Amino acid sequence: MAKKAAPKKTAVKKAAVKKPVLKKVAVKKTIRPTVKKWIFLFEEVGKAEKYSGSWEGVRGLLGGKGAGLADMTRAGVPVPPGFTVTTEACNEFRKAGQFPKGQWDQQLAAMKVVEKQAGKKFGDPSNPLLVSCRSGAKFSMPGMMNTILNIGLNDEVAEGMIALTKNPRFVWDSYRRLVEMFGTTVFNLDDELFEHPMAEYKKKKGYKLDVEMKAEDWKSLVGTFKQVFKTHVGFDFPQDVYKQLELATKAVFESWMGKRAIDYRKATNISDTLGTAVNIVTMVFGNMGDDSGTGVAFTRNPSTGDKKMMGEYLLNAQGEDVVAGIRNTSPVEEMAVTMPKVYKQFMGIAGKLERHYRDVQDVEFTIERGKLWMLQTRNAKRTAKSAIKIAVDLATEKLITKEEAVLRVTTENVDTLLHPQFDDKAKTDAEKAGKFFAKGVNASPGAAVGQAYFDADTAEKMAKEAKQDTVMVRPFTKPDDVHGMIASKGVLTSEGGATSHAAVVARQFGIPCVVGASAIKIDMEKRMMTVGSVTIKEGDWISVDGTTGQVFVGKIPTSAPSLEEQTDLLTLLKWGDEICARKGIRTAPKGWPTTGLQVWANADYPKDARRARSYGAKGIGLCRTEHMFFEPERLPIVQRMILAGTSEVRTSALNELLPSQRSDFDGLFDAMDGCPVIIRLIDPPLHEFMPDEEALLEEVITMRVKGETEGLAEKETLLAAIKNLHESNPMMGLRGVRLSIAMPEIVEMQVRAIFEAACDCAQRGIIVKPEVMIPLTGTVKELEWIQPRLERIAATVLAEKGVKRLDYKFGTMIEIPRAAVTAAEIAERAEFFSFGTNDLTQMTFGYSRDDAERNFLVIYVEQGILPKNPFQTLDRSGVGKLMKMAITDGRGTRPNLEVGICGEHGGDPESIEWCHMIGNNYVSCSPFRVPIARLAAAHVALKYAGAAIAEDK
Ligand code: PEP
Ligand code: MG
Repeated sequence: MAKKAAPKKTAVKKAAVKKPVLKKVAVKKTIRPTVKKWIFLFEEVGKAEKYSGSWEGVRGLLGGKGAGLADMTRAGVPVPPGFTVTTEACNEFRKAGQFPKGQWDQQLAAMKVVEKQAGKKFGDPSNPLLVSCRSGAKFSMPGMMNTILNIGLNDEVAEGMIALTKNPRFVWDSYRRLVEMFGTTVFNLDDELFEHPMAEYKKKKGYKLDVEMKAEDWKSLVGTFKQVFKTHVGFDFPQDVYKQLELATKAVFESWMGKRAIDYRKATNISDTLGTAVNIVTMVFGNMGDDSGTGVAFTRNPSTGDKKMMGEYLLNAQGEDVVAGIRNTSPVEEMAVTMPKVYKQFMGIAGKLERHYRDVQDVEFTIERGKLWMLQTRNAKRTAKSAIKIAVDLATEKLITKEEAVLRVTTENVDTLLHPQFDDKAKTDAEKAGKFFAKGVNASPGAAVGQAYFDADTAEKMAKEAKQDTVMVRPFTKPDDVHGMIASKGVLTSEGGATSHAAVVARQFGIPCVVGASAIKIDMEKRMMTVGSVTIKEGDWISVDGTTGQVFVGKIPTSAPSLEEQTDLLTLLKWGDEICARKGIRTAPKGWPTTGLQVWANADYPKDARRARSYGAKGIGLCRTEHMFFEPERLPIVQRMILAGTSEVRTSALNELLPSQRSDFDGLFDAMDGCPVIIRLIDPPLHEFMPDEEALLEEVITMRVKGETEGLAEKETLLAAIKNLHESNPMMGLRGVRLSIAMPEIVEMQVRAIFEAACDCAQRGIIVKPEVMIPLTGTVKELEWIQPRLERIAATVLAEKGVKRLDYKFGTMIEIPRAAVTAAEIAERAEFFSFGTNDLTQMTFGYSRDDAERNFLVIYVEQGILPKNPFQTLDRSGVGKLMKMAITDGRGTRPNLEVGICGEHGGDPESIEWCHMIGNNYVSCSPFRVPIARLAAAHVALKYAGAAIAEDK
């Protein structure tokens, strides 16, 4: 906004300097912008659009709720009259500690308009207008900030309303709610201060439920609550209705910086600078009798994504009764019987809103004496599963495009969906073993196994400090509980329905959650819960199945769901792949149209390769061959090879290894028929294949002390050899290409095994594309030394096998900064580059990848020295810059140089974005992350559609 206002001011100033004659006019003009527009009536949405330049801008200015109310008003949906105080006013208020100049006057003027529209007067006992004061930021933060209802009630107005409505019970109930909300939200009093006297009162009267309270009861409680207010706040509950409005508006502004709002923003990456808007809305009452009611609904099921309205409502109640999940609600479909006309109108409006916003809506409504009012619409929070289903369905229904569908699903959604679920058999076994505890509403899917804790603070503490897996158990949750929910593996409540606070928040964060398991009796004092004779104490293990709503005693094993069953996800990922494969989605430096990223996988064994392929990998980007050396029957041969005193002995050991390596590679090529397979030659330092030095030393000393001689000499020789292999910085020592140069026999055997397997496969009709990768290159001279020898072996094997043509490459990893800097030279030899960003990060920062994380990286991130752990998310300005330089220089030498990444970053969405921008051909990651990487690649392709690859200049 500041940016927009600034040019206007300069223009005015310039005019004033140039034409002093027009000074009068100029002065007028300069005054106008100082009285900023802080208030927008709902019907002024057009002005808000003009002011902020876009719909996104309107959402930023009026908040999501304000923008929604204004937009609904424009669409002719029945919305109670009202206006929005902008987020800009909130930000000014936060800076100065007072309303910005002009806000209050504008607010008063807006109240006059609302009075006219509503045909009522604020503070007038003979025809009173009551309003609500509701928070609403750009991004919805359900329940995290303040809302105050029934503003405008005081002693006189209450009497006036009773005369008007002839409904004293409703009036006193509304009044006591106002006093309570004022105390708890405006003056931060503890809920208990009000709840306790109310519980005592009910007990004294022998009432169990609120509905049993009569008019005199509520009236008496109003008196009690006012007394509580005075005692704890220090002055009387304000009778001046405008004072109420002022204090409520300030309280909503202040709630932006409340602890729970800050925690929530941290967890959801919402910026603190946005501020909240305040919506002042004419009150409509759902608690005016049995022709009144209130409810919330989702236009499709937010848990499963099914195309069926899901909602609940309560007759004769106010909004918070439904959301808090304290009273048992009825499904919205029942309105078809209880209020058929209203139901029809409601379904019509809900459908219209979904089509208008082209997304599933979460609506709030109130029926006041048979008239329907819409109080809110927003895009519904949803589970990962439903996010994917809804996106695919909306695209199939042609309400959105395939591209929009792809963009609507987050990589976190995919991650969550592929998270573990309970093993069906294990669950049946648990049931048979009598471990079933209770069943509730399946509010947020997934399996959670953890130790039960009965309040948010303890759940968070045990999760964070004691590093336990926790499940937070509560009767129902409130916004204050969110930190405990986020820290827990799962959430269980004994009350509330599918739209209760616990359910909505858990769905948003992808936390498995069961709500309303009403058989459970929670004893907060004894810190335990029971169903019949079964008791679970605090700290006991429970298993919560958010997919089915079941709760079990103890731990039940989980397993990862199979991707093949996720048909909607497969459809979406296919659309994503099509987007990435579009020519022109990226532009090569010379202006040629090119495609987006492919996703390959790191796989060492055929079974991993098969999984990777079924997950959609288009190649193997890294096979760490040494992993095959660790197989129990091979390790002794490997050790013999390392200990060999002569080249002959070494070669003989290697010849023993050759058949197994060949068969490993054969399996890989077979699994990846038609796709490239990058096989990396041996990389780790040799000591990694030897027994542990300390343990061996201990054994040798014990034998010596005991005087045992059998086998001692061999052990002593082995110990001496291990000592000999010892290096102070093994990660910088004899490994990678250095080891190949010092001991070429190993890689010669590996290359023979690769090409023998490739030829065998080719002869069986499999399309093989082997790419031999040389690790840890620092200078082209290393490649010049080793690569021709290996190429000769390849050619020899081809000749031996009688294979005329084979599509193969020799290339290198870029994982030493010097390699990146001299990429132009390296590309003269290397036919492909693969960034080993684990080592490249280690060596660029000079951080040991084995020690940095446990020693100081956490502190560095906490202190803001590093924005993120660079071993997880690429450091663009350092490591990323080296990569960019290496690609530009490498392609300067070899224009069609294939470039990939095989470090851990290859599966991280932010790092994938960078790889797209700098021109990688593919990213390679763990098979399990392939679906996430495919979606991330599609997202970035759409985000930068058509943009040129960023070159290093
Ligand atoms: C790397 O360094 O990024 C890499 C993939 O190799 P490794 O992790 O095996 O050293
Ligand atoms: Mg490496």
